[in-house]
Amino acid sequence: MRAYILKTIDYGDHGKILKTYTVEGVKSMLARGAKKMESPLRHMCQPSMLIEADIGKGDLPTVKDANLLDHFPAVKDDFDKSTVLQCVNELIYVNVGDDNHEKLFDFLMRFIRRLAELDAPFELLALFELKLLWFLGAGVHLKDCHLCRKKEDLRYDSREGALVCADCAKDGARLYHKEEIPALLQYYYYADLAAFRPKRPTQAALKTVLELTDALYAMHLDYKGRAKSILKSLLDGRKTT
Ligand SMILES: [Zn+2]
Repeated sequence: MRAYILKTIDYGDHGKILKTYTVEGVKSMLARGAKKMESPLRHMCQPSMLIEADIGKGDLPTVKDANLLDHFPAVKDDFDKSTVLQCVNELIYVNVGDDNHEKLFDFLMRFIRRLAELDAPFELLALFELKLLWFLGAGVHLKDCHLCRKKEDLRYDSREGALVCADCAKDGARLYHKEEIPALLQYYYYADLAAFRPKRPTQAALKTVLELTDALYAMHLDYKGRAKSILKSLLDGRKTT
C-alpha cells in the first residue's frame, strides 16, 4: 500500500516505527532493522517520504518490503517548504480520525506537489490548515456574515471564529480584523488548489492569518502544533517575506 511517512519513532536498537498516512487513515508499521547501515529500508524510512510498502498483518504490521515512490526533493531542499510540510505532517498525525481518507490522501499528495511548484509555502500552509478544518468537520463560516448573511463589508471576529458584517459588528470589546484579513481567509479557504495563485500579502498580514488559523484549531480541535510554533518564531525573525 502507498504510505506517506508522517513521523518515525525509534524501536529497539535498530528498528523504527513508521507513523504513516494511507488511504485507510493513520497507520503504524514496524520497519525492522531500518537503522542498520546495510538495510535497504534505511534511506526511505524518514518523515515526508512516500513509499509503497508490503506489510504483514496485525496492529503493528512489519514492513516486509518497500519501494520509495517520492521523496519530494523540491520541498526537502527548501527550508521554508520543508518546515511547512512538518506542520502539515503534525496536523494530520494529531487531528485525523474517522474521516474520508481517500479524499484527504489525494488532497495531501496534490498539496505537496503545489508546495514544490509554487514559491508561497506560508500561504499554502494557511490554505491547508483551513481546508483541513473543513475535512475534519470543523468548517468555518467564511461565506458571509454569520449573523445576517450579508456579503459586503465583512470583518473577521476572532472570538467567534467567523465573519460578521459592519452592521453586526457592534461589540466594542471585540477585535474585528478588517479588509485584507477576511479576504485572505476567504481566498485560502475556498481556493481550488490546482488554480491557486499566491496573493503575496504583507508579512504582517500573513502572520495574522497564521495566528488566526491557530486560534481556530485551538477553538475547534483543542490543538496547538509544535512545528507551527517553530515556524512562527522563524517568521518573527524576518523582516520581509
Ligand atoms: Zn451581519
